[in-house]
Amino acid sequence: MSRNQALFERAQQTIPGGVNSPVRAFRSVGGTPRFIERAHGPYFWDADGQRYIDYIGSWGPMIVGHVHPEVLEAVQRVLVDGFSFGAPTEAEVEIAEEICKLMPSIEQVRMVSSGTEATMSALRLARGFTNRSRIVKFEGCYHGHADSLLVKAGSGLLTFGNPTSAGVPVDIAKHTTVLEYNNVEALEEAFKAFGNEIASVIVEPVAGNMNLVRATPEFLQALRRLTSEYGAVLIFDEVMCGFRVALGGAQQVYGITPDLTCLGKVIGGGMPAAAFGGRRDIMAHLAPLGGVYQAGTLSGNPIAVAAGLKTLELIQAPGFYDKLARQTARLVSGLTEAARAAKVPFAADSIGGMFGLYFTDAIPRSFAEISHCNVPRFNAFFHKMLDAGVYFAPSAYEAGFVSSAHDDAVIDTTVEIARKAFAALNA
Ligand SMILES: *Cc1c(COP(=O)(O)O)cnc(C)c1O
Repeated sequence: MSRNQALFERAQQTIPGGVNSPVRAFRSVGGTPRFIERAHGPYFWDADGQRYIDYIGSWGPMIVGHVHPEVLEAVQRVLVDGFSFGAPTEAEVEIAEEICKLMPSIEQVRMVSSGTEATMSALRLARGFTNRSRIVKFEGCYHGHADSLLVKAGSGLLTFGNPTSAGVPVDIAKHTTVLEYNNVEALEEAFKAFGNEIASVIVEPVAGNMNLVRATPEFLQALRRLTSEYGAVLIFDEVMCGFRVALGGAQQVYGITPDLTCLGKVIGGGMPAAAFGGRRDIMAHLAPLGGVYQAGTLSGNPIAVAAGLKTLELIQAPGFYDKLARQTARLVSGLTEAARAAKVPFAADSIGGMFGLYFTDAIPRSFAEISHCNVPRFNAFFHKMLDAGVYFAPSAYEAGFVSSAHDDAVIDTTVEIARKAFAALNA
């Protein structure tokens, strides 16, 4: 038995499903999850010593590659001074200033430890600010696992949302309305019907949790216009796309200013750090200034902040995002060409250092379109790539990530391996 298999069996004795986050269990692709022992640059190694080119990058954070020497040094430097104080530090002020500088829509920011905390807190703040309860989200967007956000659409626009998870009370889900992504008409209809009840609309301005799906500019413009008109708080959940699609996030790419922004992943550089921030007049409602309670024992943790600050410094190197986008585009066009040569229906897209692979003819624009992708084909492709040392996200519904450590040789090796994998799909 391989060490991966042995570890997976052992893990299942004491950890539900053997994993601490469900997608890691390989349920949608089948097979045995790889237990990772170490990582470096664009690679990680599993418990059997197999090396993989890593295209998940911890689901986004590892934008400068694993164990970047400068991030390592920054973490080592602060480690000896203490792990956590439960009192403010200068580095927290520095990371707040840095975030506000890089995303001008953010006038004030509060650090938390996970993206889930960021979105949950931002929603509470929006509700406290507006004195309204209803929130609007979009099908296929993921905003962490707070109760209000584990909700799917009811049968009609005016019906209540339904929980997508056991344990979420119907009484909580009913305050969440779920609409179709990129559907301006449905949005207008919803605002016309109950716009004055909406506390907040939360959206991934580049969706990365139903595979990669870009918002259309018209959709985000309509969102901005309608939320302003009805006094609802527009929250951009940039936990994934912030500092990933561009230095200034999706809000820079689309030129749209949200009221609040949620950040995570890249801002911790692989350590547990996330944040939410935005308009000063809204942030002033947070405790200790205002009546919306929010707190965290490890919020602004000095080790996480050190890793985040150094990562934010590295991504500001001149040309960083041009190069990252170029490498990601090189991967995507290489894969597309390889699939075409093998006559496999396939499309791919990328924006900054984020990409989507779709086993279908055209790039999808909604969750419904994503659902038309050929999942068994993706799963077969995934395993062929994995066996040959390329680790893509273990689900057809996840985006992929490239780091600045993925150089031409790494990308070209990936494409060569994919050429054989695509050909084998049609064999
Ligand atoms: C990952 C993610 C979250 C949740 O972040 P966690 O740190 O996993 O809690 C929220 N929103 C988006 C868009 C994400 O990609």
